Amino acid sequence: MADFVVKFCCKNCKHLNRIQRSQVDEAIKIGNKPVGVCGHCGMVNQFIDPSLANKEDSKPLICVPFVDTWPTRLPAGSLPGGMFADAFGKSLNEVDFMMQHGVNPRINLAYRKAGLPEPKEKCP
Ligand SMILES: [Zn+2]
Repeated sequence: MADFVVKFCCKNCKHLNRIQRSQVDEAIKIGNKPVGVCGHCGMVNQFIDPSLANKEDSKPLICVPFVDTWPTRLPAGSLPGGMFADAFGKSLNEVDFMMQHGVNPRINLAYRKAGLPEPKEKCP
């Protein structure tokens, strides 16, 4: 099947993200829920219905709204060796941090350091 770009709208910052359809398919194939890591704020979005991304130029996927538990989910800072500290003082690598807290710590720290800038391309 031809690969194409799937758009999704981050529920946190409203950034319009683009990922490859093959990434969604790959996650489904290995039995995972496909997720979209926002390239702007780092939040890991879950799609309400990923099967709607079935053709090129389909509407952006709608993501599941976040339940507001943020302060404890956000990274407290970066540590040497590519590790990140969570709000509880635990040291995690990037992937484990995303799995446990639903946030990409590297993207999120950069986003907060930059003063939570508005996304360049907002969802329609
Ligand atoms: Zn975002």
